[in-house]
Amino acid sequence: MGIPRLIASATTVLLLTGCGGGLSPPVEELVGSSSPAPASGDQQPPVAAVRPADVRANELGVVPVLMYHRIIAKPSSVYDRTPADFRAELERLARTDYVPITTADFVTGKIDIPAGKHPVVLTFDDGDPSTFALGQDGEPAKGTAVRILQEVAAANPGFRPVASFYINADPFGGGAAGREALAWLHGHGFEIGNHTYGHTNLSSVSDGEARQDIARGDEAIRQALPGYRPTTLALPFGARSGTDGLVLRGTGYDYAGALLVGANPAPSPYSVDFDPEAIPRIRSQGADGEEAKYGSTVWLDELEADPGGRYTSDGDPKVISYPEGTGSPAERFAARAVAY
Ligand SMILES: [Zn+2]
Repeated sequence: MGIPRLIASATTVLLLTGCGGGLSPPVEELVGSSSPAPASGDQQPPVAAVRPADVRANELGVVPVLMYHRIIAKPSSVYDRTPADFRAELERLARTDYVPITTADFVTGKIDIPAGKHPVVLTFDDGDPSTFALGQDGEPAKGTAVRILQEVAAANPGFRPVASFYINADPFGGGAAGREALAWLHGHGFEIGNHTYGHTNLSSVSDGEARQDIARGDEAIRQALPGYRPTTLALPFGARSGTDGLVLRGTGYDYAGALLVGANPAPSPYSVDFDPEAIPRIRSQGADGEEAKYGSTVWLDELEADPGGRYTSDGDPKVISYPEGTGSPAERFAARAVAY
């Protein structure tokens, strides 16, 4: 199978510069063991609306969580993509049956997409104005990531214009424009997540400072969006604090998931392999150049070459369908999981 092979090759130590910093160590094993779903007492197992085998459903399969930073005409780092490249990547995702969902829906297991489709999570770090700004007409400005996403969604029915934005202090240029940008995104189904207030490397500060910067970022989002609470965090530089659980829960914040920087598809949230504290992402990137084998173009090729390993929906959000022998459901989802 393509996926484990490529993961095994990704154990090289990676050194990168720029916002993302060093890629995180790859997840060792995404597909899981071969034990079937545990029996759920004397309850009747749920039944999927379509026959899972007909759509080759695998809801324990892996999910690409794509990571973007700036969408600019003249890239100056491996974290930048041009508007044309970004559009082409979205068109590829639409053409190959992916449906965007937010990180919040992904980590909480609310994956409600049609049978035979694959979830993809689009994430944007740092609140850069090239990803979102409002034009004079109050609509997303031409050439921004959100405008391009809207255009691709309009041309591809079923491809949802949703994404997750991870912000620091003063996002999208800051001030009134920044607050208006956040309100527009929140009002249009986009997720606003925390990227810490000061873009702090949480592995290089004390636990107290780490907690403080996470809580401060959370508070800034809640102040900008009254009534809203962020539920996910993207770790600056992909760097975790040394203390288990610190990034998910503390005074002033409570998250269902924390995102890393690299370097492979994420386990299904229903799988025993899913770790909410360390969800891997894939950097959006072409097929050539530095670290391209950990980038989105190569990974999307790999997922297409090994369709059995990726998450494919059975169309019924209540039932978790998977081919017998391909993975193990997490205990909290075992009652909903059905092997076929
Ligand atoms: Zn960042």
